[in-house]
Amino acid sequence: MVSRMARKLRVVIVVGVAGVGKSTVLSHAKSILGGEGYAVEILNYGDFMLKYVVEKGICKSRDEIRSLPLSEQRSVQSLVAREMRNYIDSLMLKYPEKDVVVFVDTHALIKTATGFWPGLPEYVIKELRPDTIVVVEADPQSIVQRQSKDLSRYRKDYSDVELVKEVMNFIRMFSVASATLVGASVSIVRNEEGRAHEAGRSLAELVKGL
Ligand code: ATP
Ligand code: AMP
Ligand code: MG
Repeated sequence: MVSRMARKLRVVIVVGVAGVGKSTVLSHAKSILGGEGYAVEILNYGDFMLKYVVEKGICKSRDEIRSLPLSEQRSVQSLVAREMRNYIDSLMLKYPEKDVVVFVDTHALIKTATGFWPGLPEYVIKELRPDTIVVVEADPQSIVQRQSKDLSRYRKDYSDVELVKEVMNFIRMFSVASATLVGASVSIVRNEEGRAHEAGRSLAELVKGL
């Protein structure tokens, strides 16, 4: 247990191309850090956006959100940033005895009909105020295979090796641009085939050093 004075709130943003394994790696990191006494919450940006668009009757599935008009996506994105900040602010009270780690599972960029659009523009990153941005990466061919095996999601708009390579390149650039606005560090965690637990362990180690 950590003394009350020393308690820390760490905010970690996790990004990566659709289907690289962010949500999977995060579930491993959460169980590892949870086992070591940290209070860990994963906030999935897409979940927050989905809740809002479903309540408003705008669309029904998370993979439809990125096809909405950009103006609509932007206004939901902005509302969610505020809502997440309020939630993050409540967490030190929710867990009065522990160090708190908040993972935000999201995207540095979203591929929309009007181009690559930042998932972490100034009005979002300045609400979330992360300590670090972690980019999850894997072999592009493996990513496309993961996408096609995962029947629970629609990712055909990202499902081409050359496109995945291009998106991965842009994700690094968008991540640096966002991190620079708030003085966050940026690092890469590799999620090798069949080794999501190891990637979760690398992420957990990185978080402990913050
Ligand atoms: P999205 O951005 O679309 O939410 P994601 O990055 O969160 O995607 P996941 O849903 O975690 O991706 O993973 C996509 C698929 O890849 C899942 O079926 C998952 O089980 C599988 N997967 C994740 N990591 C690995 C790995 N290291 N090796 C093999 N398969 C993996
Ligand atoms: P995910 O399950 O992480 O793929 O998220 C589902 C969808 O939510 C994404 O495809 C985007 O349309 C949307 N989304 C997630 N994070 C963001 C963000 N930071 N900004 C804008 N849209 C986002
Ligand atoms: Mg996910």
